[in-house]
Amino acid sequence: MKKITIAIDGFSSCGKSTMAKDLAKKIGYIYIDSGAMYRAITLYCIENKLINNEEIKITELRQHIKDIHISFQIDPSTQQPNTYLNDANVENKIRSMDVSSKVSPISTLDFVREAMVKQQQKMGEAKGIVMDGRDIGTTVFPNAELKIFVTASAEIRAQRRYDELKAKGQNASFEEILKNVRERDYIDQNRKISPLRKADDAILLDNSKMTIQQQQVWLIEQFNKAAEK
Ligand code: C5P
Repeated sequence: MKKITIAIDGFSSCGKSTMAKDLAKKIGYIYIDSGAMYRAITLYCIENKLINNEEIKITELRQHIKDIHISFQIDPSTQQPNTYLNDANVENKIRSMDVSSKVSPISTLDFVREAMVKQQQKMGEAKGIVMDGRDIGTTVFPNAELKIFVTASAEIRAQRRYDELKAKGQNASFEEILKNVRERDYIDQNRKISPLRKADDAILLDNSKMTIQQQQVWLIEQFNKAAEK
């Protein structure tokens, strides 16, 4: 079977990463969480005081961007990919509410997107990759053989994020998460560069009423069809 490129895009907290990670594992492909890359840049900004309340120090960030190196390494005990920012494992830190509330404005910046898209395209040069995000099927891999666009209601997505944070023992308020989900949807869909939208040739998946297992079965079917073409 030939190796293909798989782009999974969609709204925040709709289970894209879970689906994408599971598919990659089953078919022996590389998995890249592009949202983790934008989150790692955001964490860098917070830790280096390049963001103050709502204000991003754009000139300074532009100067720093070449010093921000993001990579992924498989954790041998969990077999899950962890995000590294300049050699530090930041997998847990990048999932905090503080990062979630600041990531979308940072993701609107043209030089941030340019740097990330370049790295992502390099990661996918050899195909055999599953990447999830917002602009993978439209901008990063417009020629991907399989494109999926995932959606679910904002309330269901907020509930999933709430359950995830609680399970990790982190403090969370459902109302705050729902507000964050809606705000990110708005910014992601309305930004000038690579706004979140379904590519014309992407397959739409509304998983509001699907179990994880049902999604896994559906996705592997789509993969088999695309890889056999
Ligand atoms: O996927 P996740 O919710 O972790 O992504 C965090 C944020 O990163 C999104 O809300 C979006 O603003 C941004 N993002 C993006 N382009 C991508 C992936 C994520 O702008 N390809």
